[in-house]
Amino acid sequence: MAQSILVVEDEPEIRDLLNFTISRAGYDVLEAETAEHALQILDRSVPELAIIDWMLPGMSGVDLSRRLRKDELTEQLPIIMLTARGEEADKLKSFDSGVDDYVTKPFSPRELVARIKALLRRSGSPEDDLLEVGGICLNLSSHVATVGGNEVHVGPTEYRLLELLMRHPNRAFDRGQLLDRVWGRSVYVEERTVDVHVLRLRKVLQPYGLDRVIQTVRGVGYRFSPVS
Ligand code: CA
Repeated sequence: MAQSILVVEDEPEIRDLLNFTISRAGYDVLEAETAEHALQILDRSVPELAIIDWMLPGMSGVDLSRRLRKDELTEQLPIIMLTARGEEADKLKSFDSGVDDYVTKPFSPRELVARIKALLRRSGSPEDDLLEVGGICLNLSSHVATVGGNEVHVGPTEYRLLELLMRHPNRAFDRGQLLDRVWGRSVYVEERTVDVHVLRLRKVLQPYGLDRVIQTVRGVGYRFSPVS
């Protein structure tokens, strides 16, 4: 699965150029015209990296970056900030927005791709890429789930659901919380959709005797309980 990069840029020509440059380098591109739109996208999925323009209508790129650093889901997200000529990087650094790198417009596509690759290398250590709980192992960069070295085929939604539950073992989530965090607040999905996806997860885990790890909490919802 290709790594995805979120591009937040209000000017269509620059957004197109970014999309073209980044897609050609082999990444999936998610486009947002505003910070608000970016937050909606981030509600649904967290990309491997974000490129954020400083000057945006509404919430600025600096404010967006600060906000992302405060949210546990995006606090580690590598961010490159785009600045126009004249908005000096040193000046921006004083904003302390938690940005990892700066690229000045007009940018050279080759340089931008080099910066992206360098930042992805810096931020991704292979050891941190694995989440292993209760006999299930998730590769957080490739989104592959394995049990005892065998790949368990889960869809993207089941993967996100499993990751959330595994990150908080023994914590019960109600259906509304799962909808918010797996499907995102901006999407309308019925609560029983959660049950459908839990059933699918249990089905793929059953051959390994691990369907029991996702327990129904009566009157609440679900929790991940590692089998000892
Ligand atoms: Ca702009």
